[in-house]
Parts: sequence; C-alpha cells; structure tokens
Amino acid sequence: MSNCHICGCILDNPKDPTSRDCGGDCLKCMADSGDPDCIRSMSKVLVQKSFEDLAFGQRFLMGIKRTGTGQFPFSVDCPTQEDFVSKRADGHYVDETLNAMWWAWQEGRKNGGLDY
Ligand SMILES: [Zn+2]
Repeated sequence: MSNCHICGCILDNPKDPTSRDCGGDCLKCMADSGDPDCIRSMSKVLVQKSFEDLAFGQRFLMGIKRTGTGQFPFSVDCPTQEDFVSKRADGHYVDETLNAMWWAWQEGRKNGGLDY
C-alpha cells in the first residue's frame, strides 16, 4: 500500500474514490493541480457521492415505521449508508435498484447538457 506524494493519503482506498492512484498522486490532488482528465473524474466522483447521499436519505425515510404510541413510537429499518451504497468488484452497486437509479440520474444530467 502506498501514499499520495502530495497529501499523504492512502492511495486506492476502496472507501474513498478520490484516493485513486493517478501515478503516485491521488485523484483529488491531481484534480487540484489542474489535470483535465482528473478534474473530470473528480467531478464524476462528487456527483456520484451526492447521488448516494440523496438515495440514502430516501431509503432512510422509507425505513421509518410507526410501531405504536407513546413518546417515540417509531422504529427505523435501514442499513448503514456504507452498506446501502456498497459496490461489486465491477463497480456497480450491489443493490440493483440503485444501479437503475444511478443510470437514470446520469441520463437526466446528460439530457440537461451536463457532462458530469
Ligand atoms: Zn493526494
């Protein structure tokens, strides 16, 4: 395992897509230094992160159930965000619904003229 020459973060950390190894430096540092390919990859990572935050928020709300009366008559049936957005080795989400939503999200952005 190696670290970014610029910021020292661990490269290719599976939990942090901005740590991708771009020749010894992480994606985030390369984007910050102005590399056009890295800027584009970085904006894709950030767009996907905001998608995941929104999708998880929806999932959390759907998991709230009324379980009775009293002071807090609710229970929440929801995985952690990390589990909810976990990905397979091929980069797709484990949850097929999430794959469909992510595809639709990207199509919507393309139709709006956005290239990430
Ligand atoms: Zn770095």
